[in-house]
Amino acid sequence: MKKNIVVVGSSNTDMIIKTARIPKPGETVLGGEFTIAAGGKGANQAVSAARAGGEVVFVARVGMDIFGEQAVNGFIQDNINVEYIVRDKDAPSGVALIFVDEKGENSIEVASGANANVSPTDIESAREVIAASNILLMQLEIPLESVNAAAETASGYGVKVILNPAPAQPLGENILKHISIITPNETEAELLTGLKVENEQDAGAAAKKLLERGIETVLLTMGSRGVYIASPEFTGVVPAFCVDAVDTTAAGDVFNGVLAVSIAEGKSLIEAVRFANAAAALSVKTLGAQTSAPHRSEIEDFLDRDDL
Ligand code: ADP
Repeated sequence: MKKNIVVVGSSNTDMIIKTARIPKPGETVLGGEFTIAAGGKGANQAVSAARAGGEVVFVARVGMDIFGEQAVNGFIQDNINVEYIVRDKDAPSGVALIFVDEKGENSIEVASGANANVSPTDIESAREVIAASNILLMQLEIPLESVNAAAETASGYGVKVILNPAPAQPLGENILKHISIITPNETEAELLTGLKVENEQDAGAAAKKLLERGIETVLLTMGSRGVYIASPEFTGVVPAFCVDAVDTTAAGDVFNGVLAVSIAEGKSLIEAVRFANAAAALSVKTLGAQTSAPHRSEIEDFLDRDDL
């Protein structure tokens, strides 16, 4: 079965310093350990979908700098179609500067750079691949008008749109009416509905509010508690897999990328969520964002284990 997925979204280079403590304004702290990692929600989800077996086209923008070049090379290694990634002459590649202290607390500043220039014109250039895809997958780290343009284009061709509304921001009916599946976490669900989500009952109430705004399916992710599904097919929780979590960075991104592949394959909603939960559980067992996104064989092996 065809599993064509278009991801429209951000690509960043994460520069991470592990530090004894996060420097205060005006302070210099010596002795941190530095790593560089590919990140950005769009890129993380594109890579996760490709490793799970999707034919992925990534629509994005990076700068003309070395970071953009490294990001694109990484996508090529993961067999992602990079034809629709614009190398922006006017802006640097997106960068996130991240401090992580000994307690695991972090402090992050993102310079969006070229991500802020992803435009409705870029979406227009990708019209044909969007029309030919099974799923359009997006997040909110690029301008909302471009998310809107892509959602409208896809839904005009009857292509399912999955929106991971992260980072959280208010969304108008003009966007929501084109979305088939929305995948907020608890914080994002609260921002979108004004309802606190702390347990299954709260999740049900928040999901109901989103359904009332015209979305067909709500998948509210609740970390180690799994996913609350509200859809015409099923309402209830699909539990997460119990694993020793080492680093939950990008769990949501892995979930979304793999979900897109499973839905494109025609799996039932419950099966698709279970498959995506398995991939996300594997990802929290290892450090990193894109580095921790599992390949399809690893997800299948994990699900084949009979002690689950
Ligand atoms: P986000 O990363 O966007 O905040 P969540 O924390 O809700 O999203 O995680 C997304 C999915 O990742 C969950 O629905 C679950 O399947 C999986 N997951 C996250 N944390 C854990 C964990 N500690 N153990 C097992 N699975 C997890």
